[in-house]
Amino acid sequence: MPDPALLAALEKAVDANWERQVAWLQNLVRFPSRRGKEGPCQDWIAREFAGRGWSVDRYTLSEVSMDHLPGHSPVLDTDYNQAVQVVATVRAPEQKGRSLILQGHVDVVPEGPVEMWTHKPFDPVITGEWMNGRGAHDMKQGVSAMVFAMDALRAAGLAPAADVYVQTVTEEECTGNGALSTLARGYRADAALVPEPTGGQLSRAYVGVMWFRLRVRGVPVHVAVAGTGTNAIMSAYALIKDIYALTERINEDAKTHPWFKHVNHPINFNPGIIRGGDWGSSTPAWCEVDCRIGLLPGTDLATARQQILDTVAEAARNDAFMANNPPEVIWNGFQADGYILEPGSDAEAVLRQTHQQVYGEPLKEHSSTGVADSRMYGLYYGIPGICYGPTGKGGHAYDEAAHLPSLKKNTLAIAAFIAEWCGTRPV
Ligand SMILES: [Zn+2]
Repeated sequence: MPDPALLAALEKAVDANWERQVAWLQNLVRFPSRRGKEGPCQDWIAREFAGRGWSVDRYTLSEVSMDHLPGHSPVLDTDYNQAVQVVATVRAPEQKGRSLILQGHVDVVPEGPVEMWTHKPFDPVITGEWMNGRGAHDMKQGVSAMVFAMDALRAAGLAPAADVYVQTVTEEECTGNGALSTLARGYRADAALVPEPTGGQLSRAYVGVMWFRLRVRGVPVHVAVAGTGTNAIMSAYALIKDIYALTERINEDAKTHPWFKHVNHPINFNPGIIRGGDWGSSTPAWCEVDCRIGLLPGTDLATARQQILDTVAEAARNDAFMANNPPEVIWNGFQADGYILEPGSDAEAVLRQTHQQVYGEPLKEHSSTGVADSRMYGLYYGIPGICYGPTGKGGHAYDEAAHLPSLKKNTLAIAAFIAEWCGTRPV
């Protein structure tokens, strides 16, 4: 447990840096770092890291060979020349403690119709205890927490006594390939902390997630004789209904799952993007639907994929046109395994102590019905991958916002964790 004098020094440092941290987060939120557009945001971060004297490795995903690695997700239509990743190394001259990866993603999901937001999504406004903005909550506030936790150590006259890698990645919201690239590039540590907005809790379990595209054909005819053709959009709709039914069956199985039996409806399916048809008075000749479905930890991806293929094949068999023109299922994006953070790691033990000390209450845990990058470390590289971060609201929704008091507290908790896990040395 960090000694009380050290904790007091870190608290003073977080306090002293707080205004700068808020301004830094505001600047970070101003970057509309949607998929493929993260470059300027990452360039700014790289400069910020270099300005702290950290050694910076900035690269794009097109430079990294990783499609042979477990955990890799296929990507059809994204230019990885634009996918900038940043890894800063804060080296300790002698490794006296345990090394650490601090990792956060800067990619954000699309904001939707701007007029539905109270404040503009990329113009962060502070209202009382909240800072709004797309990505403010998920997870740019967490990125600020890990960076200013390191700054707090520095301001207290300390540095970690083992190497720390401070990483900002992209592709967390669609593949996880940003996180995987850091591992493909060789970065390793004794633990990885990902300050996703977990509300000051530990994420014990994650479902897996798969993305796929349904591609359906139709027979275009004048709508005056619609019965002589087929409608690709309605054919796709039939497939969607059957996949919803499959989802309900998987949720029945979840009722006995060790980590998800207490969670209501953990497996969710979403037709997220639909395209199709060419003309209002022609039955649609084509339709594509981009979909997301969860899977339970313990179900392997091949089995889960086969369930989708079987469901689509069965639906097609019962349709005169699709039986002869089978729909395609294209795996494009997340092929993410479920992940359990195995209880009992040293890193978790240290986090429990430091959380207790900072929050004055025991660390709670939950099972998540989404995914996070922590799986990459834990599942494939034997590095305990821990998600633990601040509180906020509106992830992927309108009026997303970070809760600033919780961010401040969590920044201190992360600083205390770094100090205790890595040990400290004077600078
Ligand atoms: Zn996130």
